[in-house]
Amino acid sequence: MQRQHQEFNKIESDNPFNNALAQLASVTDMLSIEPEYYEMLKSPEKEITVSLPLKLSDGSVSTFIGYRVQHNNARGPYKGGIRYHPNVTLDEVKALAMWMTWKAAIIDIPFGGAKGGITVDPKKLTLDDLERLTRKYVNAIEKDIGPESDIPAPDVNTNSQTMAWIMNEYSKLKGHNVPAVVTGKPVELGGSEGRISATGRGVAICIRESVKRFLQKDVKDVTVAIQGFGNVGSFAAKSLMEMHAKVVAISDVFGAAKAKGEKGYFEVPFEKLLEASNRLGSVTKIPGAEIISNAELLELDVDVLVPAALENQITEANARKIKSKIIVEAANGPTTPMADKILESMRVKVVPDILANSGGVLVSYFEWVQNLNRDHWLEDEVNGRLESKMVRAFKDVLDFSEKQNCDLRRAALVIAVNRVVSAMKLGGWH
Ligand code: GLU
Repeated sequence: MQRQHQEFNKIESDNPFNNALAQLASVTDMLSIEPEYYEMLKSPEKEITVSLPLKLSDGSVSTFIGYRVQHNNARGPYKGGIRYHPNVTLDEVKALAMWMTWKAAIIDIPFGGAKGGITVDPKKLTLDDLERLTRKYVNAIEKDIGPESDIPAPDVNTNSQTMAWIMNEYSKLKGHNVPAVVTGKPVELGGSEGRISATGRGVAICIRESVKRFLQKDVKDVTVAIQGFGNVGSFAAKSLMEMHAKVVAISDVFGAAKAKGEKGYFEVPFEKLLEASNRLGSVTKIPGAEIISNAELLELDVDVLVPAALENQITEANARKIKSKIIVEAANGPTTPMADKILESMRVKVVPDILANSGGVLVSYFEWVQNLNRDHWLEDEVNGRLESKMVRAFKDVLDFSEKQNCDLRRAALVIAVNRVVSAMKLGGWH
């Protein structure tokens, strides 16, 4: 396994799949798995690419490319979101699928890992076009998804409405109502209470736990900057503000808003921030805030930095400029392997994506269980279970990293890979 470890040292890439492989290679010396299992884990079990020709509302015809990648299902059915973004590639979806396998294993739920995506800029399509594109995609991958086989969920630029269309189209194809085929549905259609806020809430729990452990501080005494104001970033901000943390900056694709004034953090109730950003079209328009760039936000002198946007935000180019002591990865893959090494040498603690944002898939699991049992839990019950599972997973990773004297990403990966390989061995995967 020494060779893979050396390969890792040479890789710096903006290809997320290369980065996911480099992360896996970086733990080979800590894993006691046979090389054949390492080989099995390097490639997804199935990669599906579909062509989706669509007549748009303006009369033109466009062909979109869609993907579903199933990485590993040793521990349970494949699970993972679907993203709509102009930069979606097969390699990105492969990386995201692999990260889902590790994520489900870390938070210890009986799912494998998958991911889907369509290369499309949803802002350029009408809602009607988006609905028909989603239904076409479901028809194209119908045989590969299902409540017992592969369960999609929301990801970047998809939401509960997208899941409602998927559930409806899949149910039509099956001839009966199948709520458990997707998670992240509207509550009216069998969605779980607390699913929409789950990923952000889990991120905030990780922040609360990490500042306690690494800075010996209470969460209300720390400053936080959040890059990204989509589902994860906005709900992370909400939970943090409810915990009285000092959120000093937030951002979206247009730029970042840094709180002005004596206090230097956003004091208004979160709902007012959200309302202003929705009404004015961007967080950069929020009254009383200084506009800075997304790059400047990453370099703010805060206790905790939360990248909650896309991959490859913290790279070899800017890692040395990071001033925060803790990075909690709300997005998938925001830190490259080379940046990881630099941050480790700077003694910055990085709480990895596969742990920090696992609250989303955890509550997806709760939703799936409720659907299979025709049950509906109260929000307090969902949040209580989320809290205890997140705290437990955080502690597992922290204890392991202290015992092995390694960073948190390696610790999380080793725990996850060992759990997955153990399931593969018990099942006789060779
Ligand atoms: N897309 C989310 C993630 O990256 C959620 C996946 C799910 O709930 O299945 O974790």
